[in-house]
Amino acid sequence: MQAQSNQQLFLQAQKHIPGGVNSPVRAFKGVGGDPVFFSSAKGAWLTDVEGKKYIDYIGSWGPMIAGHAHPQVIEAVQQMCANGLGYGAPTAIETEMADLLCELVPSMEMVRMVSSGTEATMSAIRLARGHTGRDKIVKFEGCYHGHADSLLVKAGSGALTLGEPSSAGVPKAIAEHTITLRYNDMESVKQCFAEIGAQVACIIVEPVAGNMNCIPPIPGFLEGLREVCDQYGSLLIFDEVMTGFRVALGGAQQHYGIKPDLTTLGKVVGGGLPVGAFGGRKDVMHSIAPLGPVYQAGTLSGNPVAMAAGLATLKLVQQSGFHDRLSQQTAKLANGLKQKADAAGIPMSVNYVGGMFGFFFTEENNIEFFEQVTQCDQERFKKFYHGMLDRGVYLAPSAFEAGFVSAAHGDDEIEATLAAAELVLASL
Ligand code: PMP
Repeated sequence: MQAQSNQQLFLQAQKHIPGGVNSPVRAFKGVGGDPVFFSSAKGAWLTDVEGKKYIDYIGSWGPMIAGHAHPQVIEAVQQMCANGLGYGAPTAIETEMADLLCELVPSMEMVRMVSSGTEATMSAIRLARGHTGRDKIVKFEGCYHGHADSLLVKAGSGALTLGEPSSAGVPKAIAEHTITLRYNDMESVKQCFAEIGAQVACIIVEPVAGNMNCIPPIPGFLEGLREVCDQYGSLLIFDEVMTGFRVALGGAQQHYGIKPDLTTLGKVVGGGLPVGAFGGRKDVMHSIAPLGPVYQAGTLSGNPVAMAAGLATLKLVQQSGFHDRLSQQTAKLANGLKQKADAAGIPMSVNYVGGMFGFFFTEENNIEFFEQVTQCDQERFKKFYHGMLDRGVYLAPSAFEAGFVSAAHGDDEIEATLAAAELVLASL
């Protein structure tokens, strides 16, 4: 078959796939232009169908923390595939995964595997409601927890990029039970709980927000959430789909020293295959079927091939010094970008924690709130984005997504990225 261009492939894709993509942010609506079609990846690098190479800061939106096509991950998957792709019955590797997750994630006593981050958060919310007998849930504007009905209210990520933070098709009767507050604003949380705290099943929060660009929690915020949940008998859910194994081996809960009641995982836990998980306090997890009355199930949950990819990846992230190095490289990149912007006279602010980062075209120094992100210079972001893409740096195609560094991002890749940024910033 003759090699096809990105443009040809995107045209063909649009015939039978809505918007030509299977997940909205991939369509480049946030930056304009056509998306890139990739044919292979290795380490920190992606190769597109036209043979052009890019340094990748998306990492399949998080999972590729060890770098693309890591030989140990590929080998584990190949070995497992040779035995069959799944049985829809228990396998020993699921217990191995559960034991490891309960060892690594500080608050996790029991865990159930699912096939995506959305399933993990949707199930955790149902569990919180079933366990507490309450209907209301609290989330924060600009946080994204997947596309379940209750959670697509003032959401971040693609919903925000497309300018539709609250989706059509979500019944009002469901959305009414979702209360949306301001991230990093403890006063708004206290006020809300003083009014209706006894009706709130749970607070769900990204402990480092990564779906409205990257916003770490300000000191006292996560602690405050823990306190109000304890005071009012609500459950605290940390959505660590993005932060799990990325901001620290034990996730944001380890990094900040706060124990949630439930945790949701995704991305890294599947090593690039479709996996999610939710778990936490044993007494709460006992409410799940077949032990308890909260129903939750999945044809492919705990799939052995997916477990093999996840376990091989988790083995790599447990290596000593893994997160120190990941954090160092991320800091080098973020601080380097800021220095290049300063030198070019372009106002920029950066945030980073562990292996996640964000940069903002703004005069403001500390980006802590959702509305600050929405006020950043979008046009400048688009120009910067395309300048970097032309020079072979693949960033998230939206000003509302965090970026990811992997263990395969060495000094050469970071320096090449900064050299590209210097040229692009000078042209803005
Ligand atoms: N929670 C968070 C914090 C996420 O970042 C995402 C996806 N980016 C999800 C949930 C949903 O995960 P998935 O796309 O696997 O359904």
